[in-house]
Formats: sequence, structure tokens, C-alpha cells
Amino acid sequence: MIYDTIIIGGGPGGVAAGIYAARKRLRTLFITKEWGGQSNVSENIQNWIGTPSLSGSDLAQRFKEHLESYKGEWLDIREGLWVSAIHKKTDDIFEVVTGKDVFLGKTILIAAGSSRRKLEVPGAAQFENKGVTYCASCDGLLFSGLDVAVVGGGNAGMESAAQLLAYCKSVTLITHGPIRADAVTVERIKANPHFHNIENADITEITGNNLVTGITYQIKGSDTPIQLPVRGVFVEIGLVPNTTFVKDLVTLDTFNRIVVDPRTQRTSVAGIWAAGDCTDGLFHQNNIAAGDAVKALEDLYLYTKLHH
Ligand SMILES: Cc1cc2nc3c(=O)[nH]c(=O)nc-3n(C[C@H](O)[C@H](O)[C@H](O)COP(=O)(O)OP(=O)(O)OC[C@H]3O[C@@H](n4cnc5c(N)ncnc54)[C@H](O)[C@@H]3O)c2cc1C
Repeated sequence: MIYDTIIIGGGPGGVAAGIYAARKRLRTLFITKEWGGQSNVSENIQNWIGTPSLSGSDLAQRFKEHLESYKGEWLDIREGLWVSAIHKKTDDIFEVVTGKDVFLGKTILIAAGSSRRKLEVPGAAQFENKGVTYCASCDGLLFSGLDVAVVGGGNAGMESAAQLLAYCKSVTLITHGPIRADAVTVERIKANPHFHNIENADITEITGNNLVTGITYQIKGSDTPIQLPVRGVFVEIGLVPNTTFVKDLVTLDTFNRIVVDPRTQRTSVAGIWAAGDCTDGLFHQNNIAAGDAVKALEDLYLYTKLHH
């Protein structure tokens, strides 16, 4: 079977494209590791248009239900699969490789989003889920009444600190430069007596026994390591686009994001489109990922009609 299109990603981008593809009666294969995408972990999403407030897991459930309502002759859904590579087989056919299978498609739409950047210091991997965590809204409550550190000085770091201050004994924000978050948020959080911040510091190690007991850092320009006793380390140091599987196929920018034409979402390879957080688009939000993916699908549909 050669599909008209293969869509990769179960976040807002991929699901929006999947719905449009099925409605246009393109023979579509939809592949995703998981449903919902990054905001799956959010407690409360308040800007998904048409819905004043809903949790990330509810949003994921709605995505799945909506797309599955089109399952059948035109739409084949494979969840739990991870795409490891895409190859150009002929001028008109691409091969999508997953752990289990190989699928063939005339066109591809990549909406693989991004993942959290990992802290790469001794102890960080060893203590992941044993005190080192990448999601304050998911794991914060486990650290009630304890001292914790947040690493990262952007809005995500500040938001995590704000959430944790509701139940942790103390929250120390450690940033490698000055805090970069919005001034209003920073002022509000700094006024909390349980909040401390350490700027211009590099994390050098996470220490512990079975669980985390401390974080070690060095102030820039000093070579004296300082150990801060904490039971939790919340890491918010940015995102990395999920593009490794196409790094040798389409053009990526210096941050490994897929370069697209913003009018059509076409990539550097004819027959491949990309949308959402895996692209070099300037802004990354649920509504933008969905809108860009719809734009991509509309262009992909015209291309399919002209070329095949
Ligand atoms: C904590 C947090 C809270 C947020 N809150 C909001 C908010 O309130 N409002 C808002 O508008 N935006 C919010 N955002 C941003 C928003 O979540 C993203 O902009 C949006 O999810 C991007 O959608 P996407 O479809 O491009 O990719 P993603 O949501 O990242 O989805 C990518 C999908 O692709 C799948 N995938 C990835 N690689 C592969 C592969 N190789 N094989 C198979 N499947 C793969 C993943 O499993 C996932 O389903 C938040 C982000 C975070 C991290």
C-alpha cells in the first residue's frame, strides 16, 4: 500500500492535519508515539481557542477522539510507533521507517514537535525520576514541604518556581545568566520569602544516594564548587526539536529545526511538509501548530492533485 500522505505526530499540528487529510479523502497514515503533544502535562490550558480552560490530558483525549472519528477507509492510525528515519525511495515515494515496520507514502507531513533539553552534568541522568524532573506541574506535589531547586531562567523556569512555591519549603532558582523571564512574573515571585535566586551559575553535579540530596554549582569566574542541599531539581533549560530522523534529508537551521517556507510549510525537499514546534517558525503555541499544519495540508493536497 502506498499512502497519499503520511503524517507524523499526535500533537495539535499532526492531529489538525490528520483531520483535514481524512476529510479531503487522501489515503492517510497517521503515526504518533503519543497523543496530545507537549502541553499534555499542563494542568490548565486557557488559550486553546473555543475552550476557556482544559487540562492537557483532556486536550490529548479530545485530539484522539476527534481523529479516531475519521478512522476507516481514508485514515489509518498507528499509535505507539516511533519514526526512526525517512528515506526518499524514488522521485515520488518516501519510505518511513519505524521500529516495527516500513511504510510508503507519496507525501510526508512532519509535526513531531520538540522535547525537553536534558541537563548534562554528572548525576543528572542517574537521578532522573529520583529527584531530577522535567515537569513541575506533573511532579511538584511529590516535593511538598521540601527544599527544591529550579534550573533555568526563562519563563518556563519562573513558572515552575511559581507553581512549586505553593507547596515546597523553599525554591532556589539557579540560572547561568541573568533571569530572562517577564518582569511582572519575576517581581511577583521574588516577593515570596521562600524564593531565592542564584544568577550567573553553572551546575556541575547532582548528588544523592538513592534519591537526590543536593545540587552543586559554581559562580562564573570562581572555581569554588558550592553545594546546595535540595531534594528535588526541576530542569527548565529549553527544548530540542524532534528532527533527528530527518537530519540527513531536509534542511535544518542551526537549532536543528526544519526550515520551512512560511506561506506553505514546504521543506527543502519536494513532497515533504513540516509544521509546529519542529520547524523554524518564530512562535510556538498549540493554535499556531494546528494552523500551520492545516496550511501545510492544504498545500500538500493541491500538490498531490497536480503531481499524482
Ligand atoms: C509545559 C508546557 C505547557 C504549554 N502550555 C501551552 C499553552 O497553555 N498554550 C499553548 O498554546 N501552548 C502551550 N505550550 C506549547 C505547545 O504545547 C506547543 O507549541 C505545541 O504542543 C506544539 O505542537 P506540535 O504539534 O508542533 O508538537 P508537539 O505538541 O510536540 O507534538 C509532537 C508529537 O509528535 C510525536 N512524535 C515526536 N517525534 C516522533 C517520532 N519520531 N515518531 C512518532 N511520533 C513522534 C510526539 O509523541 C507528539 O505526539 C506548552 C508547552 C509546554 C512544554
